[in-house]
Amino acid sequence: MVDSKLKKAIGKDSKYYMNTFGKRTPVCFTEGKGMFLFGTDGKKYLDLLGGIAVNILGHKNKELTEALCSQAKKYIHCSNLYYIKEQADLAEKLVNICPNAGKAFFTNSGAEANETAIKLARIHFYKQGSPRPKIISANNSFHGRTLAAVTATGQPKYHLPFEPLPKEFVHVPYNDIQALKGEADKNTCAVMLEIIQGEGGIVSATKEYLEAAANICRQTGALLIIDEIQTGMGRTGKFFSFEHFKLKPDITTLAKGLGGGVPIGCVLASNEVSQSFSPGDHGTTFGGNPLACSAGLAVLEKIKNSDLVNKASAMGDYFRENLENIMQTTKKITQIRGRGLMIGIKLSEPNAVKVKDELFRKGYLVNSIGDDILRVLPPLIIKKVHIEVFCKDLEKILGEKK
Ligand SMILES: *Cc1c(COP(=O)(O)O)cnc(C)c1O
Repeated sequence: MVDSKLKKAIGKDSKYYMNTFGKRTPVCFTEGKGMFLFGTDGKKYLDLLGGIAVNILGHKNKELTEALCSQAKKYIHCSNLYYIKEQADLAEKLVNICPNAGKAFFTNSGAEANETAIKLARIHFYKQGSPRPKIISANNSFHGRTLAAVTATGQPKYHLPFEPLPKEFVHVPYNDIQALKGEADKNTCAVMLEIIQGEGGIVSATKEYLEAAANICRQTGALLIIDEIQTGMGRTGKFFSFEHFKLKPDITTLAKGLGGGVPIGCVLASNEVSQSFSPGDHGTTFGGNPLACSAGLAVLEKIKNSDLVNKASAMGDYFRENLENIMQTTKKITQIRGRGLMIGIKLSEPNAVKVKDELFRKGYLVNSIGDDILRVLPPLIIKKVHIEVFCKDLEKILGEKK
């Protein structure tokens, strides 16, 4: 069947849209419902990627849609020159959920949340009269695409074309305590880490590493910034993935799932650190506007009422069990990574793109990272039946002779 709507979209995209995403998966969606997206090709897709950890309530969630429509009918935006009830309400809720947080600030994206965290860490020491510029992050990390966030991102391929980059950013091997110890000093304002590296291939930090990092920060006086942009919002079976450990980050960043699809990011910081921002030091036009914050409030309400954090944990376990069975029967999976509903499937052959494409043809949306990792980040509303049908087809695909 020729999908003329898709064909037209591809034509316009290649003519008019900057080519940063390369050859995209050939589908255009018209509608979503729950775990599914419907394409202009007439096909139904089981969404196991959830817009890359964004659509945590799935598609067309009733409460979220109603909150958005109701807010849009009142007013969408004013300005941060005025008090915004929805913003204050969402800040209160997130500060109360986040251990160690005293205040919040809203942004429009993850990169901007990290950008804000970096500025906050630097200004914190500047205001104390002893500037400490150095930011330490990990190799293979991902913190976003704005200039400072991309500099913190430990992947040189994202750096080179954009030099000169902001100064005093250093990268150390992930999970290497000695390397971090060797780099952290009195010139360091912050150590910035993901609990599980998402774009880096679903690689988890060890408990020892995270606790050592917290200690190193305490000893040197550096702030600990935890990037929960992909891992947060309940995905790993705790609201924040750092809650699996004895960690008290000075600054925590959120984005992806927070608005359930509406762009919003958030920086949470201890009271002491938050106070380093004074009027005029930072700002945003759109960040924390009534529409985005209404979405955040609806998402938090739904997570609580439907117990989605515990469900993410249980469904994550069930997903793993099913994948382990495939691992045993086909030997085509060598490792299952991640935690809760943040899952990396390491394949025995470098054919992740091919497997992803085959899954797509069968009606499943997942993502591949590098040559041999499949990434699964489903909405937290996923049910056993979705896991079962996916695993059955994945087993079939992996079992086929190539
Ligand atoms: C996606 C992501 C970001 C960047 O978020 P954007 O909204 O794309 O700017 C930063 N950190 C982590 C861990 C992410 O997964």
